[in-house]
Amino acid sequence: MTTIFHRIIKRELPADIVYEDEHLIAFRDIAPQAPVHVLFVPKVDVATLNDLRADQAEIVGRLALAAAAYAKKEGFDEDGYRIVMNCNEDAGQTVFQIHLHLLAGAPLGRFGTKG
Ligand code: AMP
Repeated sequence: MTTIFHRIIKRELPADIVYEDEHLIAFRDIAPQAPVHVLFVPKVDVATLNDLRADQAEIVGRLALAAAAYAKKEGFDEDGYRIVMNCNEDAGQTVFQIHLHLLAGAPLGRFGTKG
């Protein structure tokens, strides 16, 4: 399946890219939910976390490590940050290529339900 994120990886759509290597790309979220909101997207196709195989565990590890490295580079690692992966409808997943949200830059609210 081709998603918006696949098209960003292929440079068919513009994005504010902050990091890229052979495994993943990171770019600013178009609708930021915090002063810093960056998405880390692997270059291997995986639609949701439910589809990740055991032999693909390193994909998520790489996303987390890239997010932590970015936090350190930008100097907010000590203040703190949150990483989030949404899976399917109840979590509000809208793009079906797995990705990790990095949120930072201000105290963040706690998690919640719709009630
Ligand atoms: P999720 O709801 O976890 O699937 O997250 C998808 C995220 O992608 C949302 O936070 C959107 O704001 C973001 N998004 C959608 N289209 C773009 C785009 N073209 N460039 C950057 N971020 C995008």
